[in-house]
Amino acid sequence: MLKLKEIHTFYGNIQALKGVSLEIEQGEIITLIGSNGAGKTTTLMSVCGLTPPRSGEILFKGQPIHTLSADKIVALGISQIPEGRRIFPEFTVKENLEMGAYLRNDKLEIRKDLEYMFNLFPILKERQSQRGGSLSGGEQQMLAISRALMARPELLLLDEPSLGLAPIIVRQIFDIIKKINQEQKTTIFLVEQNANLALKVAHRGYVMENGQITLVDSASNLLNDESVKKIYLGA
Ligand code: ATP
Repeated sequence: MLKLKEIHTFYGNIQALKGVSLEIEQGEIITLIGSNGAGKTTTLMSVCGLTPPRSGEILFKGQPIHTLSADKIVALGISQIPEGRRIFPEFTVKENLEMGAYLRNDKLEIRKDLEYMFNLFPILKERQSQRGGSLSGGEQQMLAISRALMARPELLLLDEPSLGLAPIIVRQIFDIIKKINQEQKTTIFLVEQNANLALKVAHRGYVMENGQITLVDSASNLLNDESVKKIYLGA
């Protein structure tokens, strides 16, 4: 579904990605793990067109997307939930969700999806008339995930969904990530500092160091890999 071929991405003179190649099959949950500053966020931002690579190729279902603008990439079926879960704080929960579907005009299906989101996160149903900005951090993350899903993406890019959340909320969010993948058949590209959790929900994982991929394997093999355990799992 998604293929990155030798991408090199820069911020001015700073080279953040140094020849990153990776592949995601339809229906997979893939996680990208690595230390602070390894280039994980830059990889996601390169895919969604916010920091286009200077060289290399990105293919989505065989079509080159590395030269497309971010809005064209969204329209193709790729949604991103950035780190820091940016929702519209002045709009209500329901309005935030409706805005997620702004590219769609199948009203009946949109209403069904809204109900699906309210089933996924009942707290959002309770708070549907409240301003997004008044929600707790965990609820805002739930809203950010649901809003992205309202676009019915084929590929969901998730950046650090656990950041700053209490462990019980994090577990809930990771259960939902799994559920979305199974029920909606959404392919998920997950960037996480919490490698332990990420590898428990993912099918495969990539390890990134200093702008390069250093390891790729099934999530279960990575969980048992001695170097991964030592560096990323605190074992
Ligand atoms: P973290 O987990 O801390 O978010 P990361 O693995 O996501 O780290 P990136 O945020 O992709 O890493 O950063 C990769 C490199 O690019 C780092 O050296 C970082 O300092 C640099 N970088 C990131 N954003 C910018 C920017 N806007 N301007 C200049 N350099 C940047």
